[in-house]
Amino acid sequence: MTFVVWARAAILALLAVCFAVPAGAQDARRIALSFDDVPRFQGGFMTPDERTIALIEGLKEAGVEQAAFFVTTGNLEDDYGAHGEARIQAYVDAGHVIANHSHSHGWLWNGDAAAYIADLDKAEAWLAGRPGKRPWYRFPYLDEGRDLERRDAVRAALRERGLRNGYVTVDLWDWAIDNLASEAIRDKREFDLGALGELYVETVVQGADFFDRTARATLGRSPVHVLLLHETDLNALFIADVVAGLEADGWTVVTIDEAYRDPIARAEPDTLHLGGGRVNALAAAAGRDPDGLAYARNDEAELKRLFEERVIVKGDK
Ligand SMILES: [Zn+2]
Repeated sequence: MTFVVWARAAILALLAVCFAVPAGAQDARRIALSFDDVPRFQGGFMTPDERTIALIEGLKEAGVEQAAFFVTTGNLEDDYGAHGEARIQAYVDAGHVIANHSHSHGWLWNGDAAAYIADLDKAEAWLAGRPGKRPWYRFPYLDEGRDLERRDAVRAALRERGLRNGYVTVDLWDWAIDNLASEAIRDKREFDLGALGELYVETVVQGADFFDRTARATLGRSPVHVLLLHETDLNALFIADVVAGLEADGWTVVTIDEAYRDPIARAEPDTLHLGGGRVNALAAAAGRDPDGLAYARNDEAELKRLFEERVIVKGDK
């Protein structure tokens, strides 16, 4: 190597050090997507079959390689669950994965732990052996129990079954915005679909940022996040916009398999403040005041106020 070439290489190496992104900001913030209550009841915009097609297309358009679909097997017995099995298969065929979200979608905090475990077993029996199946259990309502007895009984049951908690880190009330849109359609109120999309995307992105700030304050780093969404028409309409909004804000959407390889997947936070997702549980276990951990838009009155102000066309009753 001549001196000149060596010097150039040395200078380039030095520049690379000088202009390196500071530690912490180096890793792009990462997030994976998950959709609950599959097959979910019909929304206001389309049939459940159309919703599945649109959601798969939107995810593909956004370049989302692998999202999780958490199945509530009892929904298959409802009218809206017709073709539910085929729709679940369609998600898997598109590269996504499926996991357990109970059979009956009950609460744990006020229920019988043994009956609760039998219910998740019922869903597990339906899911067993299916392609794309993952060993994760997503607690309905993110309710992991409010007393040690129930909490620990279900934790032990999951361990015995080789199941892991399919936790979320970004807890969002996407379903509440979907409800507002469905009600507006039902009541024949005029609304602006573009404004609905903007409100929705903004709510997701601000939520992801909110929970990431809590994570950094608690863990000193940004974990790979898991975004809680539902199988709604809203997501069928806007998931590509949601992903574009996250990317514009500095996020990278990764696979759900990658998200659940984060070290926080192995945590069992020693707290009863478990209803706001894993980051909040870890923050509460670390001594932070749970009252300060709530995302302001996880509130139906606040979302309704924003919806009326920004989405409903002015002059409409
Ligand atoms: Zn659910």
